[in-house]
Amino acid sequence: MAVTDAIAAQGHEQLVFVGDMPTGLRAMIAVHSTALGPSLGGIRFWHYASEAEALTDVLRLSEAMTLKAAAAGLHQGGGKAVVLVDDPDTPRSTDLLHAIGRAIDDLGGRYLAAEDVGATTRDMDVISEVTPWVTGVTPEAGGSGDPSPITAIGVVAAMRATVTEIDGDSSLSGRRVAVQGVGHVGAHVARLLTEAGATVVVGDVNADRAGKVAGALGADAVAADAILDVECDVLAPCALGGVVDERAVERLRCRAICGAANNQLADETVDGLLAARGVVYAPDFVANAGGIINLAEEFVGYSRPRAVARAEQIEQTTAAVFATAREQAIPPGAAAVAMARSRVEVEGAGRRWRPGDPAAWTGGEPLRRLRPVS
Ligand code: NAD
Repeated sequence: MAVTDAIAAQGHEQLVFVGDMPTGLRAMIAVHSTALGPSLGGIRFWHYASEAEALTDVLRLSEAMTLKAAAAGLHQGGGKAVVLVDDPDTPRSTDLLHAIGRAIDDLGGRYLAAEDVGATTRDMDVISEVTPWVTGVTPEAGGSGDPSPITAIGVVAAMRATVTEIDGDSSLSGRRVAVQGVGHVGAHVARLLTEAGATVVVGDVNADRAGKVAGALGADAVAADAILDVECDVLAPCALGGVVDERAVERLRCRAICGAANNQLADETVDGLLAARGVVYAPDFVANAGGIINLAEEFVGYSRPRAVARAEQIEQTTAAVFATAREQAIPPGAAAVAMARSRVEVEGAGRRWRPGDPAAWTGGEPLRRLRPVS
């Protein structure tokens, strides 16, 4: 497919190609939608087999960010950047980071960058030396720092709505929850659940990590490949995407799924398969929006209590998704996508964010620069 056809097919507003000879930078920045406000999304440093693969990724990921921000009720749009590198684990030079920072700066705030796969907080700090339009910088640089604790608060809020959908009781006390992956987010989820009186079972490919988290919380640990077989109220995927496929659906012994991982379902048919088996699925991009809610706070002057309060509201958002799914007799994943698209189409009708646009576009507060760039 031609590049312009690909942009048109998914309704992207803008796609920027960046090439910089002195630093070897090769990147793409996709602004999918600014109908609800400036587009927000991470920078992914990845080894792509081809430019076509990078293009597909940046278009898909930026569109997903539009849905995530819209579902979270944010005054933000969806964007994403990909940087084509040979080895994502090799630290980036300051010059290369400044080069991508200048390209972001040229967009004047239409794209707000953040951390994504392969990126580090240090990368964000270095980029912030040349542009204010970057989130996820360290608290010392005026940012919100690690979003994982807030993401976990949002996941647990979504889980309260999920268990309410099962049997009308929002309490997590006495519930059995299997947490797949106890990294940054999963470890916080396991802790919050234990504090809420739930019985937690953890599994991680890093058995050492699983053992440590289980030991600290008095939880059980099982082998990573056994976590999907655990009989439980809720399975919380907090590792990689694509874990719930057609075969996994037959294997599951949970009553619901609610976790932090992005793209938990292998494809969109799984949404219907889960519903048919009576497994309640809290759509991932609704449940894990605490991270983006936290980042969006940076641009209106970061307040942690406000970020926490907004992440807690994910309980109501998730409940609204389940209610819509029931009313329209569609699976929850499809309901969440429809609700997010409708907000973009109705609230953002005919709008595009431009530098200097009125404050109303960011929820009534001015879009603040993090700090002046020297
Ligand atoms: P992380 O890398 O810190 O943790 C992931 C954990 O999963 C690691 O401990 C890893 O060993 C484990 N793991 C990997 N494969 C596994 C498998 N097959 N079975 C069991 N465990 C496995 O990542 P994170 O920041 O905690 O993010 C977890 C997920 O949540 C990712 O999908 C991420 O995209 C998503 N997410 C994270 C945030 C955030 O704030 N960090 C926000 C939104 C979404």
